[in-house]
Amino acid sequence: MHELRKDPLLGRWVAVLNNSKPPSGYSLFHENESEKDCLFCSGREHDLPAEIMSVPDQRPDRPSKKWWTRVVPNLSPVFRVEGDLGRRGEGMYDKMNSVGATEIIIESPDHSIRPEDIGLDQMARVLITYMARIADLEKDPRLRYTLIYKNSGISSGAVYSHPISHLVSTPVIPKRVKEELDGAKQYFAYKERCIFCDFISEELRSGDRIIIETRHFVAFCPYASKFPFEFWILPKRHSCAFQDTGPEEIEDMALIFSAGLKKLRALFDGVAFNYFIHSAPNRIPRKNHWHTLGEDFHWHLEVMPRLLRTSGFEWGSGFYISPTSPEVAAKYLREA
Ligand SMILES: [Zn+2]
Ligand SMILES: [Zn+2]
Ligand SMILES: [Zn+2]
Repeated sequence: MHELRKDPLLGRWVAVLNNSKPPSGYSLFHENESEKDCLFCSGREHDLPAEIMSVPDQRPDRPSKKWWTRVVPNLSPVFRVEGDLGRRGEGMYDKMNSVGATEIIIESPDHSIRPEDIGLDQMARVLITYMARIADLEKDPRLRYTLIYKNSGISSGAVYSHPISHLVSTPVIPKRVKEELDGAKQYFAYKERCIFCDFISEELRSGDRIIIETRHFVAFCPYASKFPFEFWILPKRHSCAFQDTGPEEIEDMALIFSAGLKKLRALFDGVAFNYFIHSAPNRIPRKNHWHTLGEDFHWHLEVMPRLLRTSGFEWGSGFYISPTSPEVAAKYLREA
């Protein structure tokens, strides 16, 4: 079992892996090794650990065992579902076992398809797969949060070239998510409104940072974007949990998300990016700190193009410098 350690100064948890990697285990130069042998391609199902779920492709002209999307455990999981939390102290420090889930969501049987070209029906299936996994892991009372994210391109942290997304379910709420939850809660306590619903009406009113608006969603560059050409997708209907999205909304989300990624590619062909979904923590009964969470938090998806490298200034200060204003970025994306 790996170990989770809490930073007593910042309250942030880090996962420390067993079998510590020696200096020679790190490669400082990223080579784009071409995979001769991709485990995630159709036909290699038996070479992976047992499937967690799949969306089967049941078209009659297809041979049996075809699938649209599949979910498998990560090949080297940081978090494991077995065991108890084992919270304990070590001198002045706190630690616990890395109980949780680390899963891989295979977005398509097709190795070389890019996420923006996956098609609306397939994008909807990928989103439905995300929802199903969050809903399932929410039932485990040991787990507090499930993060779905994607790395696309080597500089985004991607290791495999097959189109996959990642899921990590943790026994603690990650710090970055907690900061958003705290901020939303404070705004709600002061204004009695959801800050994200206010973002939507403010952005639609001004229009300067809007990229696309559909029936159920809006995509815009946030007013204080950390990175140039960063954009967020928010549902217009207030909802704290992504897994509560309805079938019609999912179709619409597939549309706005695919369009947003296509626009990004039109401006920067082949750019690496990350995206992640910020949804509510697992909804165990909330008596105390998070009692207004259903009203104050609003799930969303954030897309972060990797156009810059993070420098000592960002690491040292937590400040970000964006060389393109969100208004100008949104204009380029809108017109792409
Ligand atoms: Zn593949
Ligand atoms: Zn809201
Ligand atoms: Zn967020």
